[in-house]
Amino acid sequence: MSSLYIHIPFCSSKCPYCDFYSQVGTLEQIDEYVNFLNLNTEILKQGTSSPQPFDTIFFGGGTPSLLSVPQIERILNTIQKTFGIKENVEISLEANPGTVNLEKLQGYRQAGINRLSLGIQSLNDKNLQVLGRIHNVHHAHESIDAARSAGFDNLNLDLMFALPNQDLTGLKQEIRTLLSFAPEHISLYGLTFEEGTDFSAQLQSGKLSSCEESLYAEQYNLLHEKLAAAGYDHYEISNFASLDRRCHHNQIYWQRESCLAIGVGSHSFIGEGWGERWHIPADLKLYKSSLLHGENPAELLETYDHQDAMKEFVYLALRTRDGINLNKFKQLFNLSIDQAFPIALKKTGKYLHTDNNHYNFRLNGWLLYDHLISRFL
Ligand code: SF4
Repeated sequence: MSSLYIHIPFCSSKCPYCDFYSQVGTLEQIDEYVNFLNLNTEILKQGTSSPQPFDTIFFGGGTPSLLSVPQIERILNTIQKTFGIKENVEISLEANPGTVNLEKLQGYRQAGINRLSLGIQSLNDKNLQVLGRIHNVHHAHESIDAARSAGFDNLNLDLMFALPNQDLTGLKQEIRTLLSFAPEHISLYGLTFEEGTDFSAQLQSGKLSSCEESLYAEQYNLLHEKLAAAGYDHYEISNFASLDRRCHHNQIYWQRESCLAIGVGSHSFIGEGWGERWHIPADLKLYKSSLLHGENPAELLETYDHQDAMKEFVYLALRTRDGINLNKFKQLFNLSIDQAFPIALKKTGKYLHTDNNHYNFRLNGWLLYDHLISRFL
């Protein structure tokens, strides 16, 4: 598989809980950025020893739906001319309600986007206000309807939980509404208070309170129960898919396979040797200046050795329901998982489901994922 991630670092406004690299951009800045992305693609191609046409492409952000249809076409045309795009490619784009309408979504679909991820975040107006989102529930409904009318039959909806003052009754109502849209994919985000955000300051000053651990667990279990009962495959700790609608692009990350990246603040992984992680520093000025000098703006973050690669493989695989494939692990690392991690497996054993060829966390293991995975690291 060959994959590309494209980072769009612009948003309509900054949400108070968000620590992603994004900024409010003008129309001119966004248009100029598209030119830089194309330059980035060309320079990346020159430095890639055996470029392959892409099987998956993912526009993430930020808010990629701030880009117009012609801008998306310019980016995809450049990718087609340089690396190439496979015929049955999955092209995902993250969009936020309040930044799309039917005409734009029809244009995206015609440009080749075939998987839309809508950041609806909540189906409760009070929650959306607390989150500082630019849209309300009505806008979310409109965007979902427009996506369906535009022909998107592979739709992801993001839903946040563990929100301030969110109780189980309210969450149940949101889940009912969510299921009424029958999305093909659902991504969950438990709210966290990241350092440096407005939310973190409000938590410290007592204006906001975080969700108790026990309520967090109840909400997570409720989401699992209701979505599984509705036929969704809980295939990753935070992701659910209806039949055959897993996100192929994100599966590349969890399987620790190579993924190239363009755009300021983006990360890539090259699976040669034991693997290398690269990033493009979150500095727009530096990004532009490197590209104008004909240089690849990516910097090496980490080169893995055998031990680190094994740890990361397990860290990623245990996020998924498929878990660790024991044959694959042995083939890759020339050791069995039991030889590689005897103590960690003993300590986490009661949270693991095992069969002849797989180890994966049970639901109660996913709830304690951070704690349990630390045994392997
Ligand atoms: S729209 Fe998304 S990326 Fe942009 S500020 Fe809000 S949460 Fe962050």
